[in-house]
Amino acid sequence: MPDHSEITTCAYCGVGCSFKAEMKGEEVVRMVPYKDGKANRGHSCVKGRFAYGYATHKDRILNPMIREKISDPWREVTWEEAYSHVASEFRRIQHQYGRGAVGGITSSRCTNEETYLVQKLVRQGFGNNNVDTCARVCHSPTGYGLKTTFGTSAGTQDFDSVEQTDVVLVIGANPTDGHPVFASRLKKRLREGAKLIVIDPRRIDLVRTPHVEASYHLPLRPGTNVAVLTALAHVIVSEGLFDEAFIRERCDWDEFQDWASFVLQPENSPEAVEKASGVSAELIRGAARLYATGGNGAIYYGLGVTEHSQGSTTVMAIANLAMATGNLGRPGVGVNPLRGQNNVQGACDMGSFPHEMPGYRHISEDATRAIYESLWGVKLDNEPGLRIPNMLDAAVEGSFKALYVQGEDILQSDPNTHHVAAGLEAMECVVVHDLFLNETANYAHVFLPGSTFLEKDGTFTNAERRINRVRKVMAPKNGYADWEVTQEMARAMGQDWTYAHPSEIMDEIAATTPSFAGVTYDLLEREGSVQWPCNEKAPTGTPVMHIGGFVRGKGKFVRTAYVATDEKVGPRFPLLLTTGRILSQYNVGAQTRRTDNVLWHDEDLLEIHPFDAENRGIRDRDWVKLKSRSGETSLRARITERVAPGVVYTTFHHPATQANVVTTEYSDWATNCPEYKVTAVEVSPSNGP
Ligand code: SF4
Repeated sequence: MPDHSEITTCAYCGVGCSFKAEMKGEEVVRMVPYKDGKANRGHSCVKGRFAYGYATHKDRILNPMIREKISDPWREVTWEEAYSHVASEFRRIQHQYGRGAVGGITSSRCTNEETYLVQKLVRQGFGNNNVDTCARVCHSPTGYGLKTTFGTSAGTQDFDSVEQTDVVLVIGANPTDGHPVFASRLKKRLREGAKLIVIDPRRIDLVRTPHVEASYHLPLRPGTNVAVLTALAHVIVSEGLFDEAFIRERCDWDEFQDWASFVLQPENSPEAVEKASGVSAELIRGAARLYATGGNGAIYYGLGVTEHSQGSTTVMAIANLAMATGNLGRPGVGVNPLRGQNNVQGACDMGSFPHEMPGYRHISEDATRAIYESLWGVKLDNEPGLRIPNMLDAAVEGSFKALYVQGEDILQSDPNTHHVAAGLEAMECVVVHDLFLNETANYAHVFLPGSTFLEKDGTFTNAERRINRVRKVMAPKNGYADWEVTQEMARAMGQDWTYAHPSEIMDEIAATTPSFAGVTYDLLEREGSVQWPCNEKAPTGTPVMHIGGFVRGKGKFVRTAYVATDEKVGPRFPLLLTTGRILSQYNVGAQTRRTDNVLWHDEDLLEIHPFDAENRGIRDRDWVKLKSRSGETSLRARITERVAPGVVYTTFHHPATQANVVTTEYSDWATNCPEYKVTAVEVSPSNGP
């Protein structure tokens, strides 16, 4: 068996690249991409190569701290004192305000085993279902949309699948910056001759890079994804380009016919959609014909699909297109969400939602609850708990009082910063378990130091459902891996947890979760990694899902009526802001800003079209004020034709910018995923912050 002892998995994006950590004494000095890593095959991006720097950064907090009020200074305490304080505060609050007054948030940056333990602590220890995760603000619509249409909340393909694709449709994603190693494989396939359709308000790099040029770029107005996708479906149905044999065999024909009559309605025609979306009917017709008739068609999408008031509807509109054209259930096709964080897929798989147990089984299913009730020795609540925004609302209203946040900075990453702050401020015990004193920690009463991916064992699950090993290559600077901290909290609250190693947590996951039934650390050691479902039927995992039949039985067509967002432009706020990432930074930058990545990029910029800049007297690199109905911030302008007139764009990597002070209160109708991608704003010259 090969020696994998120094092979671990990048803790940034959902590609999940494998690396060898080269050590000098107790410290990592180099991350070398691992040639046998199945997700990256020896490649990496600039983020991954420098991913070790933050583990030894001076800003890390290594000792637990407590304070009575958030205006008090922090006081260092022993771990025992911290656990006992948290346990007594949570017990007091539940006694005083009720069992539902407390909750927890799991982290997509932590391992599967760690997120499993946080949801277990909430369900077994707190006795409620008030657990949620940062997927709430990114891919929760993927979970809803793909479960509804296909029966499981995950992408359908492995990354290798792209090598057999003839037409790639990228919507609401910028793989070059967000998922660079996968983007390289995608570009290789495009250079070999596959055709490309890009649906995005910005002219992202992929539209034209060396030797790659999109056949179609549909530069739609932010907020009109559903209209454009339904118009593509209109063309496919009206011109008879659908795959009748596939639909008759794999879907419900009557349901298809109902959906077909819906997409054929005049308001869904390319001509009707042209006005709302800003995309010409000709482009819509051309893109639809290419996707439907160009051979194997694969759709890749990102947060530009999910972070909308119709995020779940958009995911279902994508699923409709793939089913209608028979582009599912074999290599080279499929519906592929490019998950943002390293373990956002895993955090969702592990039951981090208030309505779902591990493996996406609804909390109301008696048989599922019975499995855990017998193992955990408790009666589980059969009602869904609170989502993150509901927790914050309840805190402001006075009924939610304590929160355990593992590895997430909700103040910086969640929308409507002022409301998040008000919710946190209203709580009596906020426990932040993290590497650094982040923005959320400004409102915390207890700080528990976290561990980096280099300091612990476990697994991450990437965007292709691949379960990769995370291996401890250095001792935790703070003394304990995150799973150990959660275990001690549970013990302090009276639970008799006795895990000696994360492999034992995985054994419990496998014993209780059908899609993980065959997963063991021994198997991962032998195979390197496996893709779930991994069980008796698929002992070494499942690269492509829905072969021969959908997980839900028949694929479900859903009517996807376009409903314009409530966020409207007007005389005071005439521009539409949309947001995204850049290659060298990762999310709110808590990690990358503490590595050598800052050499590549160290501020958020506002992209604005020359026409809009000139009208406002703004020159390139000028400071500007970005103002919306929710708030305002300052940043520098970058004048570019990447964005269309009327649209501006920025990133959200730097706390100095706090881009989310301007984002809106609107969210996806099904999942509450915030509508980060559409905010009406005005931009004006300023003198800086
Ligand atoms: Fe790979 Fe993503 Fe890490 Fe880059 S950030 S090395 S693409 S996992």
